Amino acid sequence: MYIAVDDTDSRQGMCTTYVLSEIILRSGLDLIGFPGLVRLNPAIQHKTRGNGALIANLGKGRGDPIRVGTFNGMDLFSYRKGTSVSDGEDLMDLAGEVINEMAELEEPETNPGIVVSENKFEQTFYWKAVREEVSILDAEKFIRNQGGRFRKIKNGRGIIGSAAAISWPGNLVTYEFLSYKYPNGTPIKSETKMGAAKVAERITGSFNNIDLRNGYPAIFPKERTPVVFGVRGTSWEHLANGAKEIIKLNDLDIDRSILYMTNQATDDHIIFDPESISSGSSYSIEGRISDDPYSITGGHYFSTMKSGLLELKIAAFEPTKEFRRIFSRLKTGDLVRVFGTFKDGCLNIEKLEVKVTSEIYRRLPPLCDQCGASMRSKGHNDYRCSQCGNRSSMPAFSIVHRDLQPGMYNVPVIARRHLSRPFGLELTEKGELVREVSA
Ligand code: ATP
Repeated sequence: MYIAVDDTDSRQGMCTTYVLSEIILRSGLDLIGFPGLVRLNPAIQHKTRGNGALIANLGKGRGDPIRVGTFNGMDLFSYRKGTSVSDGEDLMDLAGEVINEMAELEEPETNPGIVVSENKFEQTFYWKAVREEVSILDAEKFIRNQGGRFRKIKNGRGIIGSAAAISWPGNLVTYEFLSYKYPNGTPIKSETKMGAAKVAERITGSFNNIDLRNGYPAIFPKERTPVVFGVRGTSWEHLANGAKEIIKLNDLDIDRSILYMTNQATDDHIIFDPESISSGSSYSIEGRISDDPYSITGGHYFSTMKSGLLELKIAAFEPTKEFRRIFSRLKTGDLVRVFGTFKDGCLNIEKLEVKVTSEIYRRLPPLCDQCGASMRSKGHNDYRCSQCGNRSSMPAFSIVHRDLQPGMYNVPVIARRHLSRPFGLELTEKGELVREVSA
């Protein structure tokens, strides 16, 4: 039986991943496949942080289990296959109980939603929720139509994310190993955090661990939450071993850890080469820069590009830090592919491919065709030779050296979105554990 939950936390505390872990623990059921952390449209206004929904398949496991975490020192296992032993209603009640106890229900923007289903839902809803905006009513209709059941707490907006998590096909996957200390994590010195993030960086296939230039240990949360740290990677085996080493080396006080399968770093939110664009969705668009970049107070940079009939304002905002230096070197005529979210009339760039840089020429006074001396400019297209007095209206041209090479440019780790796949990250298709599962 699949159970999905969303919208239980606020910026004051809690994390829906912890709520799911509590449901798994209290259910007494086996985990079948990996639990899933499914990120949805990053432009949604109601999100607390990273717009993540959670899913687990719970039942009676079969076959050889693998260790996917620990609960208070006890191993948590996951089974490759399993059968459903719940009618869903008991799981829904349990999830409701856990949410009533743990969710930040007094916060106005916390509106939990629980969805249960015997089977995975059609993937259409996932693609809509990761790329567009969906209404609570649409989620209700979809869940009913797919034979699932839901429970709304307060306005129940969380059923949108929960339904999307059950619809997630997991075509491309990465993993995140999260460790916790209930209720507010554990205090860690900043040197220890940087040291631990450097260890994470050495885990094969791991990504977005640390931003050295900006002094940012990305594996640690910025806000109050039970999460102590989370490391991301393309190989769950390497992640699980590496995370254990981080805990041991730094003697971190944790009471729980879980390995999630995720859609992080898959670019699932990106719509490629759209015919039209709308606010609140993310795109990849190829075109030519049509205005040299300029900056405004606050350190935000803007430019425009043309792609067919589309003329698009593009931006590198201050949080993208040193990426702005790359952006500012773009010139009119450069052929680029931009990736980012379109909002408030502007595409907010999250990565950039410079395909071809345009050649830029500078006018120079020509050499005198009578005596070979350098001529002097006396006005627009008016050149005089100071040696022999010859005149010319034809300038010479030289190619301006470009300080931007064609290539792939990521924003720094501190500015990366969960769903955005950094250039250079190879994804392995290793979602078998979940895909082989029978309900
Ligand atoms: P955290 O990352 O800390 O778990 P969050 O950023 O996931 O928090 P939530 O508190 O879950 O934020 O709030 C996001 C809300 O937006 C949820 O209610 C979810 O159902 C809803 N939502 C998700 N995707 C969409 C979408 N495409 N359209 C409309 N609502 C959405």
